[in-house]
Amino acid sequence: MKVTGFQTTALRVPVRESFVGSVKFECFNPVVVELSTDEGLRAHGVAMVFNNFHVGLLKSCIDAVAEAVVGGELARWAQLWERLRATSMRIGSDGLGVYAMAAVDMALWNLRAKALEMPLAKLLGGCRDEVPVYASNYLWRDRSIDELQREAAGLVSQGYRAMKMRMGLKTRNDDLKRLVAVREAVGPDIDIMVDSLWVWTVHDSIVMGREMEKLGVYWLEDPIPTHDVAGLSEIAHALDMPLVAGENVSSKRGFRELFERRATDVAMIDVQAVGGVTEWMKVAAMAEAYNLPAVSHLFDEFSVHLVAAIPNGTWTEHMPWWEAIYQDPPQPKNGRIQVPQTPGIGFELDRDAMARFRL
Ligand SMILES: [Mg+2]
Repeated sequence: MKVTGFQTTALRVPVRESFVGSVKFECFNPVVVELSTDEGLRAHGVAMVFNNFHVGLLKSCIDAVAEAVVGGELARWAQLWERLRATSMRIGSDGLGVYAMAAVDMALWNLRAKALEMPLAKLLGGCRDEVPVYASNYLWRDRSIDELQREAAGLVSQGYRAMKMRMGLKTRNDDLKRLVAVREAVGPDIDIMVDSLWVWTVHDSIVMGREMEKLGVYWLEDPIPTHDVAGLSEIAHALDMPLVAGENVSSKRGFRELFERRATDVAMIDVQAVGGVTEWMKVAAMAEAYNLPAVSHLFDEFSVHLVAAIPNGTWTEHMPWWEAIYQDPPQPKNGRIQVPQTPGIGFELDRDAMARFRL
């Protein structure tokens, strides 16, 4: 089966209610690339930016990179990935170049699973048919303590057993008060992950990490900028709780350094930032060699398959930022998401919604 063409569509999906994470979020811009084959199959992949930041540029990059696989044989996955890599590196080996290749690589794997009439998770390994998820789209930096407590308690009543809160905008004392409030609201048995979005120093991270350990925090994510691998390593050694990094790291090369230097206790792999499904699977296998769990970041619709496929997959982040473009988006139930058993990723695009959100 050969790839015969592609179509890309840039979208703008507004947020239901704005919130402050690393920035104030107003909208998400998924760019969907759909590949077609000589046997009439179609499947999509997706990359995204937010707040309309260079969405046209992302679409242009995907258009340029997708050309590289037209005429290619679908089954030759490593060959097609090499073509994507060679083309996209001329745009950039980080950022938009990698995002573009990732979108096309996701579409290729979605197509392969459809061609073989099996769910992507099964094609990639099939270790399980459901994955644990943690609630991630809540407990943002701009929420008041009351709001944090209401949201956190609400998540528990929805069946979540784990949730992530953000820190790093307030003083250390205020952040700790907010954490105490969330712990109070959920009780002792719920896992709380903390993400401080790259803003602390090594010293802040160790001091705060020790306080968080007393409150039973499950992991500390991205306390300092990821390029400071020596700093991450120092924090990881100083704390008993797991340190998590990797969501903005591209390719095997980036992760090799994190793993070799024991700079993360969990491999957090983002299917877009790393370079697609092919590279996600390779990095997850590298993590296995270092006896590390692998977790996903964003892209629920692909990530549930990736985490379900591998022996060391532990958590999927539930972040329904652009779920409105799907007919039947991933829905957690009792803190888990079932992997669709239909061919491909099993999440099909909602054409009416696509028309509504089209830029
Ligand atoms: Mg994060």
